[in-house]
Amino acid sequence: MCSVCLTAQTTADLKKKFDTYLSFNGSLNSYVSFNTNSVSILNAGTPEFTVFADEIPTFALILKNIKPAEFIAIYNRKQNKHLSQKQLDSLKNKYSGNTKSAYKQPALKGKRIALDPGHFAGDMQTARVEQKFIEFQPSAFNNLKDTVRFNEGSLTYQTAEILRQRLLEQGAIVMVTRPKQNYTAFQITYDEWITKRKKTVLDSLLKENVIDAKRYTKLMNFGKDKLFWEFFRDFELMERSRIINEFKPDATLIIHYNVDEKNTDWLSPSTKNFTMAFIGGGMTGDNFSKPINKVHFLRLLLTDELTESEKLSSLTVNQFSKKLSIPVAQKNDADYLRDNCMKTPSNGVFCRNLALCRTINSVLVYGECLYQDNVKECVNLTKCDYEVQGQKVPKRIYEVSDCYYNAINDYFSNP
Ligand SMILES: [Zn+2]
Repeated sequence: MCSVCLTAQTTADLKKKFDTYLSFNGSLNSYVSFNTNSVSILNAGTPEFTVFADEIPTFALILKNIKPAEFIAIYNRKQNKHLSQKQLDSLKNKYSGNTKSAYKQPALKGKRIALDPGHFAGDMQTARVEQKFIEFQPSAFNNLKDTVRFNEGSLTYQTAEILRQRLLEQGAIVMVTRPKQNYTAFQITYDEWITKRKKTVLDSLLKENVIDAKRYTKLMNFGKDKLFWEFFRDFELMERSRIINEFKPDATLIIHYNVDEKNTDWLSPSTKNFTMAFIGGGMTGDNFSKPINKVHFLRLLLTDELTESEKLSSLTVNQFSKKLSIPVAQKNDADYLRDNCMKTPSNGVFCRNLALCRTINSVLVYGECLYQDNVKECVNLTKCDYEVQGQKVPKRIYEVSDCYYNAINDYFSNP
């Protein structure tokens, strides 16, 4: 597990990582200071937490093995003290966890791989709540012969299911965040969550002062759609992150299918198609208003997670581009890439401060393989023209799963 955090790093290495991956447009520059022998998180210009050069390996190890909320206590206790070797050893013993090398065995044998198929809709009704579906009617403007109708939650689920079987055959230990079509990460459907869990969850959030009485009443009275956008969407993402971290994966594959953001009327297919992947980083100063985000920042800064995720993501994007014949997105190909992301040195891999990219404690790739609304893709994704594992699926889905499969094999074969 800790193969990703044991590379020797100097404060100069960390500064380079900070500039390349973590500080979006320099917006963290007044929150973090780098000195020849230390790095500090600042509070109103004054250091509140400092890691000295000789402490880097120990704190990288701890951040890989601890729950972020528990690290806050260490953060508040240590502050700017320079720990002795004895104190560091005692921390190391307490939090060293599983330190076996991830690279000793043949490629995937025994590797723990988490799969997160994006969204949860398995039918059009649920997909309309999530607003993650494609529906085009044939018209004089679009040359479509038949109606095109499908949802992203089903594409990602089928991709993960094919991949899961193939990884298991290679001896990997695999977890999937949602075990059935239309199931959420809570292992039930959204409808079931509303009838069986909503009240209990909101009651306990009220009791723990996470929400106040006014918000409680509002959330209790919202309809299904409004509750999804105002609460459930983020809440369910945090459950995905929680169960993935509990699984302690060697790598996490977050599976999505993209759309052309400029195709705003959603009545006709787009001619555009691009492939890309996201990793963590690209943080801004307002993230530091929550202590827990400072812990995520420190983990990303001190461990090798970002550079390893970049490696895995680059392998994945190269597969997408080569095997699916899709051009790799550049910074100006989408507004969110230009306005919210940092370009990494690897083509098509961008730092984006998405909740899962920030909170999952693992090497990861957040893959956006293709544009579902592309004129060719949308037709291909509607066909069930390929049989795999006794199921008829669109051949395109098999090809996408194959890209992830090849990338993860390459990643673990060539450390
Ligand atoms: Zn998506």
